This record gives sequence, C-alpha cells and structure tokens, in this order.
Amino acid sequence: MRDEHKKSGRIKEITSVSNPIIKDIRFLEKKRHREETNSFIAEGMKLIIDAIDGGWTLKTLLFAASHRDNDNVKNLAARAAANGSDVLIVPEKVLGSITRRDNPQMVVGIFERQLLDAAKIKPEAEDVWIALDRIRDPGNLGTIMRTADAAGAKGIILVGDTTDPFATETVRATMGSIFAIPVAHLSESEFITFAKEWNGLVVGTHLAGSVDYRTPQYSGRPILLIMGNEQSGMPAPLVKVCEQLIRIPQVGRADSLNLAIATGVCLYEVRRHALSLEKRGNRI
Ligand code: SAM
Repeated sequence: MRDEHKKSGRIKEITSVSNPIIKDIRFLEKKRHREETNSFIAEGMKLIIDAIDGGWTLKTLLFAASHRDNDNVKNLAARAAANGSDVLIVPEKVLGSITRRDNPQMVVGIFERQLLDAAKIKPEAEDVWIALDRIRDPGNLGTIMRTADAAGAKGIILVGDTTDPFATETVRATMGSIFAIPVAHLSESEFITFAKEWNGLVVGTHLAGSVDYRTPQYSGRPILLIMGNEQSGMPAPLVKVCEQLIRIPQVGRADSLNLAIATGVCLYEVRRHALSLEKRGNRI
C-alpha cells in the first residue's frame, strides 16, 4: 500500500485482495460485522452520489484503478476525500471480491447504517407506513423498499426477526431506495403497542381476509399496512391489531402471491388517490 496524497493520508492504493483493510470490508458480507462496525456496502456511482446528497455518511469510497482517469470518478473521489471519507484505489478483482460479482461496479461505497427510531414516527395526514412481519427474503425486502419509495410510502417497519435491510443483496435490490426510505425495527410486542396507538387505519393483508383490497377508504387518514411472513403469513397477535383484513382476489392454482408483489398491489391501491401522472411530484 502506498499513500498517494501524504498530506491528507486519506487516498490509498491497494492492490491485494488479502490486504487487511480489504479483508475487513469483505467481512461486511456478515450481518454481525455490519452491526459491529455500523457499516454496509452500496454499489454504483449514481447511487453513491445520491446517498451523499441525501446526507448519508460515506466512510470509505473504493474505485477501480482502471477508472482513475474518469472525470466523474475523480470528482466523486475528491468530494469524498474532502468530506473526510477514506478513498481506496483498487484493482477490479478487489471490487469483485467485495461485492461477490464477476462484473462489479467500478465504484463502491461503505456507508454508515441508519435505522429510524420508531418513537419518532408521528403519522399525519395521509402518510402510509408498511410493516413487514418477519420478512426473510433479502430480494423481497429490497423490492418492497424500492416500491415503497416509488409509491410514496413514508417508510418501513420491520417486525420481529427479519432479514437485514443492509445486506448487500437487499441494498442492491433497492436500486438506491435504501437511501430514501426510512426503516425502523420493532419486536412483535413493541409493534403491537405501536399499532394499537396508530391514529389512522391499521390494515392487514391475509389470505383469509374478507375485505377486497379495493374496498377500504384509504384517503384522509394515516395508513399502517401490515404484510405477513413469506412462509406462514401473519400470526394471530398481529391479526388482532388490524381494523380490517384485506385480500387480493386470486384465480388459478397459486396459493398466494409473492410477498413483494402483494405489497406492491396493495400499496398502489392505498396510494391510488394520491398518485396520478398529472400531479406534480410524479416523475413520469
Ligand atoms: N402460506 C402463507 C399464508 O398462508 O399466509 C402465504 C404467505 S404469502 C406468500 C406472504 C404474504 O403476502 C401474506 O402474509 C400476505 O401479507 C401477502 N399476500 C400474498 N397473497 C395475498 C393475497 N392474495 N391477498 C392478500 N395478501 C396476500
């Protein structure tokens, strides 16, 4: 390793996959290490720029040595170093080993994790929050975060023992929405207390629900939309806190819809009155 800018000591070139700094970063594939270091990995230039713009703390920026002359990369590296982030110039094989990809992105960021304190959630007007009961699949969680962002939900509450929102696979599936959608985490009992105090409609999705998901009046009040676990659905204590249990009609042989799909279908119905191609704020 050699310092390129001795003055700041922040920009370093590393060539070996077994360098201790790189080894430490590779350990971020483990949830425990992400928690202990309060860090996670995000890939891609645009996403990293959006995250910095959004106030997230970039601890370390890594970029491919092959792109050192790229103006965008140089600008980002200069901005990162000026903000106090470490900047590592590495071979593409190092980026591949960190992200576990054959064709890695040329820019990778190590960010500080941010979880929202659920006590700070003060629902008002037509705010929509999504509660995910023991969600297990990282791809489902990432897809739901991306959909929540697109549909204008305020945030996500993870309930019980769930997959980690900061796992690299989840972050990848969010396509950048990890930096836009606040995530809180509550135990089941904490969540039940939270839901009982909700000053709006608490609506659960259930295969035994008797209410068509298009029926409830969603506008004019905050909505707490509860989705059940992929394997077992929503447990009885959560069912109890729901004012209504909605169901998406199905025909055909499928037992149920995929959790992320069901969330998207319900969320767009919940937000239907607020979304239109003509409204300001809609990007398309
Ligand atoms: N075997 C599980 C069960 O019996 O509930 C299936 C769970 S399903 C894969 C995961 C979650 O997606 C459900 O708990 C519910 O929140 C939602 N879901 C899937 N299909 C749905 C439907 N047709 N109507 C309402 N919610 C649905």
